[in-house]
Amino acid sequence: MLLVDRGNYIDRNPYIDKPQSIAHNATISAPHMHARALHLMRNNLYIGAKCLDIGSGSGYLLSCMKLMVGITGIAIGLEINIQLAKSSVRNIQKDQPKFIHDSGICLFTMDGGNGLASQAPYDAIHIGAAIATEPDKLVSQLKVGGVLVTPFRLSSGIQQMTVYYRENELQCTKYSLEEVRYVLLQ
Ligand code: SAH
Repeated sequence: MLLVDRGNYIDRNPYIDKPQSIAHNATISAPHMHARALHLMRNNLYIGAKCLDIGSGSGYLLSCMKLMVGITGIAIGLEINIQLAKSSVRNIQKDQPKFIHDSGICLFTMDGGNGLASQAPYDAIHIGAAIATEPDKLVSQLKVGGVLVTPFRLSSGIQQMTVYYRENELQCTKYSLEEVRYVLLQ
């Protein structure tokens, strides 16, 4: 994260540890939440890994993920809002100009709720917005040993940071962690 300048991804208050609005009802997460997500995925973001960021928003976390998987790794962002997708490409180009010559980062403007099966399987999938139903389709796009990190909204309205770990072809383990607050996946 020290290699990714948050000032290139938002205009206001980039260096305080708080979420900030990035328009269109989206927020760039607080740095400590980005750190938390990266930490939960750390074993799967090895050099050469393939990862997916659903709801990539400002592009900040996508840049971090790409730096972790290195030149031989692939980081794919899915963002439903075309304005945000366009500005995130500008943010990433400003912050990490070397990525322009590196085909291992890409961004699709699309509904990412069902992931991107054509590029599966992934070592790690992150969702930057809260889901409310079990993400079976996304889990099926993980490699065995792969991890999905997402905020999960319970029927009570409480959201929990949640990790799905694909144990083998048939089994997946779900870990519900601390309470969080994210915008909802559309
Ligand atoms: N993690 C990002 C953005 C988090 S805000 C950051 O820190 O910058 C959540 C983002 O998810 C918003 O940009 C929103 O437009 C996007 N989003 C919501 N529903 C989506 C969907 N179904 N598919 C793809 N992106 C979605």
